Amino acid sequence: MKPFTYTRVSSVDEAVSAYARNSESRYVGGGTNLLDLMKMGVERPSHLIDITRVPLNQIEEHEGDLRIGALVSNTDAANHPLIRQRYPVLSEAILAGASQQLRNMATMGGNLLQRTRCYYFYDPSYSECNKRKPGSGCAAKSGINRIHAILGSSEECIATNPSDMCVALAALNASVRVSGSKGERTIPFSEFHRLPGDTPQIDTNLRSGELITAIDLPAMTYANRSHYLKVRDRHSYAFALVSVAVVMDLDDGGIVRHAHIALGGLALKPWRATKAEKILVGEKIEPQRLLAAAEAELQAAKPYPGNAFKVELAKRAIVRAINTVAA
Ligand code: SF4
Repeated sequence: MKPFTYTRVSSVDEAVSAYARNSESRYVGGGTNLLDLMKMGVERPSHLIDITRVPLNQIEEHEGDLRIGALVSNTDAANHPLIRQRYPVLSEAILAGASQQLRNMATMGGNLLQRTRCYYFYDPSYSECNKRKPGSGCAAKSGINRIHAILGSSEECIATNPSDMCVALAALNASVRVSGSKGERTIPFSEFHRLPGDTPQIDTNLRSGELITAIDLPAMTYANRSHYLKVRDRHSYAFALVSVAVVMDLDDGGIVRHAHIALGGLALKPWRATKAEKILVGEKIEPQRLLAAAEAELQAAKPYPGNAFKVELAKRAIVRAINTVAA
């Protein structure tokens, strides 16, 4: 591991100022992903800024939204009464991820930043990985690509985003509050993560030194009608091959008023299934329509030999998740 220096800060301003003094810094909260990456030599910061004493660990109502501080643990968010009652899909998604011990340590802000679980990215003995070393190639394209992307990938990188929580946040139209040297701003969740394009080494649209301070969930009266379906190789402690978060509003006649569908395990960012949503809104939930919605969303899929099964799996998962919510 590369040697590093360490500072502990107690406010957002102190954190941002510490970063401004050394742009090779990383903020550390729970450290459940960053420290692994440092041990493997994938992340090599020269300085760590410990933000665990910054008061960002509240969940509170804020102008109609629910604001979740960036340092709230995944466990505390999943078990919070307001989240369980108003946004149960978020609670379900968090509890489907990792292990109890990891959820106790992992923070909400850190979960947004966890990096892909592509095997080649984590192992520097593979020389080809554009995400780890831009311009070096992509070993996954001709290697083992069972867990890789079928939507939104590029010739440079076919990695996926591993987070369950982020799939639910995408379906809930969340936004991310950040603070940096130029002040505060809010990033809509759909614009927070990036697809790989020709810069796969950049995962998010955070600017250098910006610190995530909170996640805002907008008021959504129908968000308690929801479901998170995760399909994986093992029943626990495994990343999603495919996952689906559905939030749906139906009128008394069963017509879809609002449909929010997000997919995990398929792309480098949580994938909002807007094509499927469009086909469902204003219509009844019927088998043929559901199938048409799932097929429309997967039409642009670009599978590789090891992950072609994900196309059919994703369609079936979409249908099953929506049927569960509609029932
Ligand atoms: Fe690296 Fe992306 Fe290719 Fe994996 S898929 S080897 S992360 S470039």
